[in-house]
Amino acid sequence: MLEIEKDVRRVTFAIPFGIDHVHCYFLRSSGGGWILVDTGLGSRDPEARWREALDALGAPVELIVVTHMHPDHVGGAADVAALTGAPVWQGRADHEQCRRAWGERNPERFAEYWVRHGMPEETVAGIVAESDRLVEAVHWVERPDRLLEQGDEVDGWRVELLPGHADGHIALLRDGVMIAGDTILTGITPAVGLYPNSRPDPLGDYLRSLARIEELAPRVAYAGHRDPVAEPAARAREIAAHHADRLDRAVSALDGTPLSAYEVSLALFRDELSTTLRRFATAESLAHLERLVREGRASRAGSGYVRAAPIP
Ligand SMILES: [Zn+2]
Repeated sequence: MLEIEKDVRRVTFAIPFGIDHVHCYFLRSSGGGWILVDTGLGSRDPEARWREALDALGAPVELIVVTHMHPDHVGGAADVAALTGAPVWQGRADHEQCRRAWGERNPERFAEYWVRHGMPEETVAGIVAESDRLVEAVHWVERPDRLLEQGDEVDGWRVELLPGHADGHIALLRDGVMIAGDTILTGITPAVGLYPNSRPDPLGDYLRSLARIEELAPRVAYAGHRDPVAEPAARAREIAAHHADRLDRAVSALDGTPLSAYEVSLALFRDELSTTLRRFATAESLAHLERLVREGRASRAGSGYVRAAPIP
């Protein structure tokens, strides 16, 4: 466990896929205990996973806050709640999405979605199998003790609703310190994808969230992965520029013949990708294509997309 600044401690767990680690944060509470933000993946042996960190704190965990419903953030929520007896608070919109994703799984509908967007059947089969494995590590909480909204206060920290990477993603802000989840990261850009049941324009949401981070201009953002973001406002601008460029590249990939999101992903992400990463790439391409439709630069054609005809 690392004390990254006064009253903020960080514990890092290895994860077996994607980015190879995740950070969880302990914030000193006004009562002298700790607030845990994010919980890593669910574990078969929560005691072994958490005991050392919990003992090192020297005071009880009084509250658990989840920034978003992705497995590496919400996955251990029920585990650590059981170990500590602490209540779990989660964003209202995020919990709704969490319930849809993990509580009402519908593998056929999930498979149909990727097929419709052009993914080859064998890749889809791989995605469904992976998702079956992943759900085992998502120990989410069906009834959080409180559902958080924009502007709510959590022991002096203000809740900021920053959708995009996840529809109901929240961050906590106090005295220039942001506990950012995956809204903003150092060195890599947070994935922004369109998934079944998600809000219709996640990239539009995300670009607004980046503008909000720029406006809030925290001194530092402690994120779910990698190093702290030293200049969050500048990093938000950089990430926005990256998406503007990717939008241009997505338009360039289109012409008058409808292309599926999968085909566009092959143009945008040319490397040979694992099944998981190709799923991310396809969802990310979809998010960009739907943004382009809203900007009048692309049109839907069946389940594919064409470049919008120039206005005569
Ligand atoms: Zn994450």
